Amino acid sequence: MSAKIERIVITSHQLSLDPPFLPSWDSQPRRKFPTTIVRVFDADGRQGIGSGDAMYGFSDFEHLFLGQEADQLERHNSVLGNIEFHAGRLWPLEIALWDLVGQQRGLPCWRMAGGLNHEILTYASTGVLRGPEAALEQAQRFLDEGFRALKLRFGRPDIKDDLAVLEAVAKGIGDRMAIMVDCNQGWRMPWDTQAPWNLDQARVIARALEDHGVFWMEEPLQRGDYENMALLRRERKTMKLAGGELTREPYEFDQLLKHGSLDIYQPDVAVTLGMSGLVRLAAQVAGHNDCLFTPHTWGGGIGLLANAHITAGVTPPEKSSQVFLEYPHDPPEWTRQRRDFIFRQPVDLSPDGRLVLSEAPGLGLELDEDRLKATLSHSQAYV
Ligand SMILES: [Mg+2]
Repeated sequence: MSAKIERIVITSHQLSLDPPFLPSWDSQPRRKFPTTIVRVFDADGRQGIGSGDAMYGFSDFEHLFLGQEADQLERHNSVLGNIEFHAGRLWPLEIALWDLVGQQRGLPCWRMAGGLNHEILTYASTGVLRGPEAALEQAQRFLDEGFRALKLRFGRPDIKDDLAVLEAVAKGIGDRMAIMVDCNQGWRMPWDTQAPWNLDQARVIARALEDHGVFWMEEPLQRGDYENMALLRRERKTMKLAGGELTREPYEFDQLLKHGSLDIYQPDVAVTLGMSGLVRLAAQVAGHNDCLFTPHTWGGGIGLLANAHITAGVTPPEKSSQVFLEYPHDPPEWTRQRRDFIFRQPVDLSPDGRLVLSEAPGLGLELDEDRLKATLSHSQAYV
């Protein structure tokens, strides 16, 4: 058996979205869903699969991985951390390496991540800005589907309209479901020059959210506004503060933890710190009283599964009733079929809203190769 990395293949795919999808954090309707798949092969022909960021610039760094032992996961994580500083986020490669090493060892990634759990509660994470009635109808459908939590988006031109939607949903189902609100002030799309909220704006909204019994308020301020997030957090009695989904560097998370800025830490393994890095961060978060780790997963099904493996693996059973993993789900605009178009079967949930992972090695995923061929836009092999 040879565990060396023999070949890496990166392919790009474009799924047409008709009707288009207009998420609240983006000012441009999405007519395509671009996906990058990274495959890492060992000399015995095993294949590990990852996805997430577009892997821009990988051709400058291929030599740092080809010929290396696949199972040197900490080494690969360090090198990818260095590359992130110099170039871009190439974390999908590390997801593929974990998947590959899981197959070499015959272990699922949730066991490699700590093995504390193999299932995780989810929340229905919406992306579209709807009116009060439509949002409540949808929330009731989520309840019928088995979800115990959902996330609403803010970002309408008038904050009063955001609050009217929250009020309708909270009054309608707030006694039966936890409600999260994502304010999306932590970062912007490249073309979006709107300033984030300041502390005074965030404070008024936070009070209104807490009055409606919101479970967590997500990204109320810019990601580096550590002190004001900490202030906001201390002023709230019951509501939690969440953030950090795309925050890049370990030292930035150290600052968030040092200042006590957040209750819920949400880095997404597809774009931040990698699998090994998030296992380490989750242990750091667990060392802070009342803080929880549960990643952002917006993107494709591979990111959802990779984050699910990490979160399940690091979550002790006594905390599992408070940890809700993001499950992007907002039909008709954002469906499981769109999100997981690269799989033979979309990632589904148990009737009571849990994502249950199996003993299949690695990430346990099965690609729909016909669909991938039909949506292929670019392919590059590194040998
Ligand atoms: Mg978010």
